[in-house]
Amino acid sequence: MDVTPLQAGWPLAALVLVLGLGAAGVALLAQPWWTWRRHRQLRARPFPRAWARILQRRVPLVQRVPAPLRRRLLGLIQVFIADKPFIGCAGVQVDDEMRVTIAAMACLLLLGRSGEACYPRLRQVLVYPEPFVVPRGQLLPGGVVSEMPQALAGESWAQGQVILAWSEVVAGAADPADGRNVVLHEFAHQIDQDGGDADGRPWQRDAALRQRWAAVVDEGLARLREAPSEALDAYASTDPAEYFAVATEAFFERPQALRDAAAPLYEALVRLYRLDPAAW
Ligand SMILES: [Zn+2]
Repeated sequence: MDVTPLQAGWPLAALVLVLGLGAAGVALLAQPWWTWRRHRQLRARPFPRAWARILQRRVPLVQRVPAPLRRRLLGLIQVFIADKPFIGCAGVQVDDEMRVTIAAMACLLLLGRSGEACYPRLRQVLVYPEPFVVPRGQLLPGGVVSEMPQALAGESWAQGQVILAWSEVVAGAADPADGRNVVLHEFAHQIDQDGGDADGRPWQRDAALRQRWAAVVDEGLARLREAPSEALDAYASTDPAEYFAVATEAFFERPQALRDAAAPLYEALVRLYRLDPAAW
C-alpha cells in the first residue's frame, strides 16, 4: 500500500514530539493524551491535609522517601484514588483511610517510572476486613486433587483486580522494616501481570534488559531453593512471580539487608524500579 507524505509525516511528527518531551513523551505513548492531561491536572492538585495525616499515621514508609520523590508520590496517589474504584467486601465500608493507605504503597512502586501509566489494567481494588477464604486445589498422593480452603491476605488477578485484607494491609504498613507488606506484594504481581500472566519478568520491553533480569531471577531462585536467605522470605522460592513479589517487599522495606545479602538482585531491582531505597 502506498503511503502519502501526509500519512507518513504524522507518525514522524508524533515521534519528534514524544522524543522532545522525554519521560512525558513515554507517558504519552503509554496512554491516550487526554488521560495523560487529566492525570497531570490531578497530580498538580494540592494534597488534602486529611490525607497527609492518614499517611503520617498509617504509612511510615512514606516518611523515608526523599522530599522531591515524595511530592511525586502525593501526585500519583491522587491519580490512583481518582481512577481506581475501591469496593468493600464482607461488610467493609471503604473510606479515605483505606484508599490513601493502599494507594500510597501501590504508587511507591511507580515512583521511579515516570513514563509508566498508573496500573493501566487495574479495574478495581477489593477490600475485605480480614484474610479471606478461597478454595485451593491441592494435589494429593495418587493424583487426587482436593479443594482445601485457604485464608489469603491478598491476591492479584490478571483480569485487573487486586484483593486485600484490610487487617493485613494495616499490619504490613505499620512495620516498614520487616520486609512484609501485602500491598507491595500484590501490586508487584499487578505490574508483572501488565503484559498478561505473571511470569516474574515485569516492564522489560528491552530484550537485553529482560534477559539480564531473567538471569538474576533464575540464579536467585536456584540459590534460595538450596539455602534460606537472610533477606528474602522462603515463599519467594515458589516460582519467578513470587520471587519478584517477595523481592519487591524486601527492596522497599529492608533495602540495606537485601543489598548486603543479594547485591545482584538489589542492583537489578534498582534498574527495574529506577529507585535506590538503600540511599533514602
Ligand atoms: Zn504472591
